[in-house]
Amino acid sequence: MGHSKPKVVILGGGVGGTILANQLARAVDRVEVTVVDATGVHHYQPGLLYVPFGWERPERLRYDERSLLHPAIHLVQALVKGIDLDRRRLHLANDGELSYDFLVIATGCCPVPQEIPGLTEGSYHFYTEPAAVQLYQALHSFEGGRIVVGIASFPYKCPPAPLEFTLLLDDWLRQRNLRKRTEIVFVTPLPQVFSIPTAVPFFEEAFNRKGIKVETFFNTERIEPEQRRVISLEGTELDYDLLVMIPPHQGSPLVSASGLGDKGGWVPTDRHTLQVKGHERLFAIGDVTDLPVSKSGSAAHYQAHVLAHNLLRIAVGQEPDANYDGRVLCYVEAGDGKATKFYFNYENPPRPPRPSVRYKWIKSLLNRFYPAIVPKGFSLRPLLLTPQGLFTSREAFCGSTMWKSLQEQLQAYEKGETTISEA
Ligand SMILES: Cc1cc2nc3c(=O)[nH]c(=O)nc-3n(C[C@H](O)[C@H](O)[C@H](O)COP(=O)(O)OP(=O)(O)OC[C@H]3O[C@@H](n4cnc5c(N)ncnc54)[C@H](O)[C@@H]3O)c2cc1C
Repeated sequence: MGHSKPKVVILGGGVGGTILANQLARAVDRVEVTVVDATGVHHYQPGLLYVPFGWERPERLRYDERSLLHPAIHLVQALVKGIDLDRRRLHLANDGELSYDFLVIATGCCPVPQEIPGLTEGSYHFYTEPAAVQLYQALHSFEGGRIVVGIASFPYKCPPAPLEFTLLLDDWLRQRNLRKRTEIVFVTPLPQVFSIPTAVPFFEEAFNRKGIKVETFFNTERIEPEQRRVISLEGTELDYDLLVMIPPHQGSPLVSASGLGDKGGWVPTDRHTLQVKGHERLFAIGDVTDLPVSKSGSAAHYQAHVLAHNLLRIAVGQEPDANYDGRVLCYVEAGDGKATKFYFNYENPPRPPRPSVRYKWIKSLLNRFYPAIVPKGFSLRPLLLTPQGLFTSREAFCGSTMWKSLQEQLQAYEKGETTISEA
């Protein structure tokens, strides 16, 4: 191996990369861990869902990556512009190089609105911070009419997010007395409202209850911003007053440039070992993979745990013995101050329980206390429920400032108070 301690380089300091690095750092005697990230700023993307409504402040969703990492981890802030697979080196944008024994690609994926004519000019979305802030401004000057919300193409990250947005939009319009003056239409390329059949009844019921119309088989071909019209490949034309269209996504341009994957930038990844297919020293986790699971922070979280375990075994000459089973756990907004849970893996599809306030609380807790919990690789459960955790009992939890802060947030939500200042 050439080193006494193998050097693991993690490309990307997002959810997957950060959790993996912190898990590996628990055995710094076995591995040397480096994270290389383009910005050094960690974005908590699930919070972007709330920014357009003024229920979350964008600056609260950015964290200094260094502050989330174990002190033993090296952090290099640089854009990686190439991977030299033969020499096992990364080429950095500042002309530097970084060598590795094992490389983990965790670059995530990003929206590419320019792929659909008129999308950039004619539509809004909330998948990046600037886009979410623009949508906040558009929504806050909206006075009624037709809002079309949709998904331009697959895959995209966090599959439930556009549907959650649509349900929250209904709440928000009601709070502002605009709902009676507004028609909401949800468009999707699929034959049904959502991609996972067992979760379809949950969304169908919620959309019906809220009077949200659904247009299926709608593959967005182009947008005519002047006419405020969105046109599908199937020939359907929809006029709109406000369009919220989740753009097509791509993986990393590095992937195709390095000969690792297709033009879409998705890394061909073994669904159990997370090894890049055909490359012994390369692994991939999170949104950049071509794994048949939801592109979600939760999937990246579970994958990071499996890979950390295996890399620590490989580092001491043992065979890897953990497998990723396709696990994903997402708390999903249902509107009306409630949420549900999607928990599934490769073999077992989600069976969402009836929406409840309890799941909404859990989701809010995760959003509020993310930096203290998730990047470190913890889950909420032991923090709340075990004697070794932060709270020794439910009573202790209910008397805590964490709980009070959460209750205040939920009350503000119910009253329709906004927390963002007009930008
Ligand atoms: C609106 C919205 C709501 C969401 N809600 C949820 C939810 O409720 N639950 C859930 O589980 N998930 C949710 N997600 C999805 C979740 O945020 C992503 O799936 C998750 O962040 C993926 O983690 P990742 O580590 O693969 O990539 P990311 O977290 O995107 O991190 C990638 C990192 O790689 C860095 N990088 C990229 N290219 C380079 C390069 N060339 N050189 C150096 N660094 C590079 C980037 O700077 C970034 O820091 C949501 C996403 C959005 C947009």
